[in-house]
Amino acid sequence: MTVPTIALPDGTPMPVLGVGTWGYAEQPARRRDEIDSLRAALDAGLTMIDTAEMYADGGAEELVGEALAGRRDEAFLVDKVLPSDASRHGTVEACDRALRRLRTDRIDLYLLHWRGRYPLAETVEAFVELRDAGKIRAWGVSNLDVDDLAELDEVPSGDQVATDQILYNLVRRGPEWDLLPWAERRGLPLMAYSPVEQGRLLDEPALREVAERHGATPAQIAVAWVLDHPGVSAIPKTATPARMAENRAALDVALTGDDRAVLDAAFPPPDRKRRLEIL
Ligand code: NDP
Repeated sequence: MTVPTIALPDGTPMPVLGVGTWGYAEQPARRRDEIDSLRAALDAGLTMIDTAEMYADGGAEELVGEALAGRRDEAFLVDKVLPSDASRHGTVEACDRALRRLRTDRIDLYLLHWRGRYPLAETVEAFVELRDAGKIRAWGVSNLDVDDLAELDEVPSGDQVATDQILYNLVRRGPEWDLLPWAERRGLPLMAYSPVEQGRLLDEPALREVAERHGATPAQIAVAWVLDHPGVSAIPKTATPARMAENRAALDVALTGDDRAVLDAAFPPPDRKRRLEIL
């Protein structure tokens, strides 16, 4: 199966499944595996790569640039600006630095990593300038809850936001209370980070039970569960090349009503508003 896409608000197709890079470029001994993992991702058709200037202080961006050498056109690159850099000029400068480290002339989707001290209007103005200059194709946000998103909608060009990247998985179901319905009404795609809860989910008995039914692994079920929600993409991270193919095969898992019931019993949906959690 080719990786399905979600249309961003401007119509650009964005893959529903990609890969994360938090933790990359921190241990020299793992560098080879990390580069091989990203190349294995591209080979498997997982072309969406998520990184951030924060990860290894720019080191992850550099590693992504190295892995993508000669293959840039295959990838859909997602990058994030730190809130401390997200002033009107700081955002543009951070993007220029990122482009150099990534060895490319454009970022497909550039996100504000989380909300900081600079007004959203300033960051959005910079994003629009970057898009007009062709340095980014689209822009979005991360870790913004409904009230922040509503505020963003009110700033000039704020309604052009292409995604909100949020913590969402079986043990972080808070966004189902209001954020998922809000985004669906608004036509805003969401991107789920830490879909396997950084590995902590994988020994959960309910997940194992559903995995056995499908001849799948718990990681595949955890990712398939996130992707079962319309308009939601996921970016599991692995630095193990073999796991790239495993995680990609999560796309082949079709959860049944019974599976959902088992998972709902073990990981109940929210019964009240919870503030959006952050990792
Ligand atoms: P994930 O839920 O993706 O979990 C990653 C961990 O799970 C790693 O230790 C990895 O191990 C392990 N793992 C992955 N696949 C498998 C598998 N098939 N079997 C067994 N273990 C597996 O957590 P992350 O926090 O990394 O989230 C994903 C990405 O989301 C990040 O890398 C980052 O790009 C982004 N993110 C964004 C945030 C934001 O604020 N916007 C915050 C947090 C993450 P190994 O590598 O050894 O294979």
